[in-house]
Amino acid sequence: MRSIRFSLTICFLALLAFSLGGASLMAYRSASRNLEGRLSIQKELAQTTYKDRCRDEENRLDDALLFQAQTLARLVQFHVDWGKLRFLELHTLGLLTAPTGSSAYVQAPIWALQGTRSFAFDLFRRATPSIRFDPAELLTRLDGQVAEFFQIDTAWNASYKSNSLEAMSMAINLATFAPDEVLHWEYEDLKLSESLKVRRVVLKASRFLLGPTLPAPPRNRNPGPNRGAEPPVPPRNNNAPDASFRPAIFIQCAYDLAKRDALFASFAQQRDEDILNFASEHNKDLEGFRGMLAAINLLTFLAGGGICFWLVRLGLAPLNLLTVAVSHINEKDFNLDITDKQLPEELKPIAIRLGLTLDQLKKAFAREKQATADISHELRTPLSAMLATLDLALRKTRTVEEYRVMLEDCRESCTNMHKDVERLLTLARLDAGADPFRPELFDLSHLASDCVKMLSPLAQSKGIELQFEGEPNLDIHSDPGKLKEILVNLLHNAVQYNKPSGSVFLRLSSRPGSIIIEVEDNGIGIEASKKNRIFERFFRVDASRSHGDSTNCGLGLAIVKGYAELLGAGLEVTSELGQGSMFKIVLPAPLNKEAFAASAV
Ligand code: ADP
Repeated sequence: MRSIRFSLTICFLALLAFSLGGASLMAYRSASRNLEGRLSIQKELAQTTYKDRCRDEENRLDDALLFQAQTLARLVQFHVDWGKLRFLELHTLGLLTAPTGSSAYVQAPIWALQGTRSFAFDLFRRATPSIRFDPAELLTRLDGQVAEFFQIDTAWNASYKSNSLEAMSMAINLATFAPDEVLHWEYEDLKLSESLKVRRVVLKASRFLLGPTLPAPPRNRNPGPNRGAEPPVPPRNNNAPDASFRPAIFIQCAYDLAKRDALFASFAQQRDEDILNFASEHNKDLEGFRGMLAAINLLTFLAGGGICFWLVRLGLAPLNLLTVAVSHINEKDFNLDITDKQLPEELKPIAIRLGLTLDQLKKAFAREKQATADISHELRTPLSAMLATLDLALRKTRTVEEYRVMLEDCRESCTNMHKDVERLLTLARLDAGADPFRPELFDLSHLASDCVKMLSPLAQSKGIELQFEGEPNLDIHSDPGKLKEILVNLLHNAVQYNKPSGSVFLRLSSRPGSIIIEVEDNGIGIEASKKNRIFERFFRVDASRSHGDSTNCGLGLAIVKGYAELLGAGLEVTSELGQGSMFKIVLPAPLNKEAFAASAV
């Protein structure tokens, strides 16, 4: 890991990028869906508009056809009426000449009743056998109309065809086309030739209904292939004569469907163009949204990165403060130059722990310095003594006996120094963990009595009673070498710091799961304030008492404590100044011999 700031910044930026990416993706998808919806609505709208335009156009054309058919119907009526006038004119002359003896005109008034009798109609038909139009007049009347083709048929077999029809004709069965209707029209798509398809309207109109009574063609009707099948209901004239008496005319008007289809094709093209425009507009909008998202993301990312950098810097400021404070620590100054108020709650435990560690370090450092001074001091005393003895020996020629005594003094100093150095090495091995626990099964009672025997001469020399009390054959699975060192040290101290005619007891006892060793004396005791320090290295309650005796350099109890910890034993001391002391060691031990054997494996 490079640095907390770097890692935090990267983590935050990654989180920001991830969040932005996710949010953008969702926003983009949502926008894309909305735009897709809009596009599909626009497409549907274009299609609907196209259909509406086609339908309207078809309606318009159909209406125009019907209007044209009605116009023609009126023209026909005019020509027929004109023929009838001519007929009446002739017969009026006949009437005028009737008194002259002619009886042929007796029925003339009947003929004058506008053809309401078949006989009169027959005569009328004969008078007007054909329909003729002046093309110029037709052009004027039909100017701007859609029909290129028209055809007029009458019930009295008079007919007329537009020139555009040439040899073709628009067939219609006059007898079956709405025989009971006085006014009726029908639309139909018709194939006139292989290459010509037309849409036509067939209008049946009885003469009586032409003119002002003819209803206007309906507007805005729904399209249909043959809308004439459901024509608007013409006004009903209850007084109108029966249809069979009406001289009906049949007008057909038609236009080329190719023209309508071409118009529809242009509408379709317009629709396709609109759809293409919508699609390109859709793509542009989507592209714009993408660009906007990218810009927003970039700006947010940059702003977020800046804020993140600032926040991380702010958050790590106390850590920097701590780093600076720690960097000021050196071997002369172990103080952490920082106050609690300057640190956040999260760093306070670290600072407190650091302060404690520094205190311990400071003490250890001081102890180390003290130890160096103590070692120097402890070694200097025997060395000085030895140098003084050697100087004395060399000052003049001595007898062999004198030389021997002096050399023995030197040897004693060397032995004491050797012991001290050995103890220092023992502690150094303990510190380094180089003195391992070497367990074996042995009789602790036997070991303890050996130690007592070893210290007995010293005790006797000081007039101190040394006694051993304990169960025999107390087997234990432990390290005998280290236990011996512990016992020797404790017994030595008990003898050393005793009073004349004092006594020392070594007691062994066992309890379930433990063996207890007690070394008790009734010697000088230890001050309560110094009791906790006697296990420190080179500590002596009264250093003056050991002046000149380099075997008491304050390392014995430090070794006892180190070994007791290694053996997993508890170590307690109770002492009263002037009354004596008791050192108690509680050794862990199996409950029975089988357990001993098992633990020894
Ligand atoms: P030393 O080598 O000086 O005996 P120790 O580490 O063995 O060093 O003991 C440290 C100090 O504890 C001694 O200097 C002595 O003052 C005190 N002390 C140890 N054992 C006893 C005891 N049984 N009675 C009184 N004082 C004791």
